[in-house]
Amino acid sequence: MRSAALTTVIAILAVNVSLVLGWGYRASDQRRWAVLHPACGGRQQSPIAIAARQAIPISIPAMELIGYQNPLPGPLTITNNGHSVALTIPKYSSEEEKKGFRLPYIFGGPLDNEYEIEGLHFHWGDKNNRGSEHTLNDMRLPLEMHIIHRNKKYRNLAEALQHPDGLCVLAFFYQVVEFDAKLLTPIVKNLSAIENYNTSMQLPHTFSLSSILSGLDTERFYTYKGSLTTPPCAEAVTWVVFSDYLPISVFQMDNFRGLLSNLNLPLVDNFRQLQPLFGRRIFVRITSKNPKFKKTKLHYSKWDWVGHKKAENDVAEFDE
Ligand SMILES: [Zn+2]
Repeated sequence: MRSAALTTVIAILAVNVSLVLGWGYRASDQRRWAVLHPACGGRQQSPIAIAARQAIPISIPAMELIGYQNPLPGPLTITNNGHSVALTIPKYSSEEEKKGFRLPYIFGGPLDNEYEIEGLHFHWGDKNNRGSEHTLNDMRLPLEMHIIHRNKKYRNLAEALQHPDGLCVLAFFYQVVEFDAKLLTPIVKNLSAIENYNTSMQLPHTFSLSSILSGLDTERFYTYKGSLTTPPCAEAVTWVVFSDYLPISVFQMDNFRGLLSNLNLPLVDNFRQLQPLFGRRIFVRITSKNPKFKKTKLHYSKWDWVGHKKAENDVAEFDE
């Protein structure tokens, strides 16, 4: 009798500990993120709703994706961390760096420094009408990939998270096609090996980032200042969200939905609720496809990420 009661107490404690230490995606769970991670209640949080009609067109350079065409250093590891699938990319040793090996990095766009790749992961839905974290013109796509880059002036991720210019995350939307979407095959065909929470596997082959982005138009993108979309929600992210879609097949989506969370439930709908803008501005890069904004010029070093006027005044303010 006593031991049964003790077992019950221990079981209740274990459940409470997991509630306190872990975090989840149910609406009631998301509201509690800020209790342990105060930044989650901040005023520059992500994701946000992005709409072409409210974005401010701006002349800025294209994003330069350097080394994206080279095979990533191996072995690559995929992990089911209970919240997502994450791809971990090993760092080069100092000997390899002396020989000239470099991890892929990015610059251009809104960035004033080089940012080196740290890893990538995904957010997806139980159904095809949801899953992406950002929405684009009120659309929620079934899958969104985040490629995380660290400002090279910071030594590691932990240090970068302490600074507003610490990270740049490239966000890519996917739309479901019936067949022949093989871009993510190197990752997707191995997902069954990491079905359970807290499991990893080394991929048998490495691949290049450009191979999984093949055919994407990277000329047009939205950019704004925000945060990590998971605890600790650090407000350290310059977001670059591409408006073009990548393809994923229905079969490949099902591979993501076959994963299990830390509670042994299907790992689906791992996206955060939309966050308020609190006066932040969303910029969209001017390309030859939207030439009517050609006269709008604002040097990007002078732009103001957080506006002080009403949104409808913004465009007029920038017209020459
Ligand atoms: Zn993410």
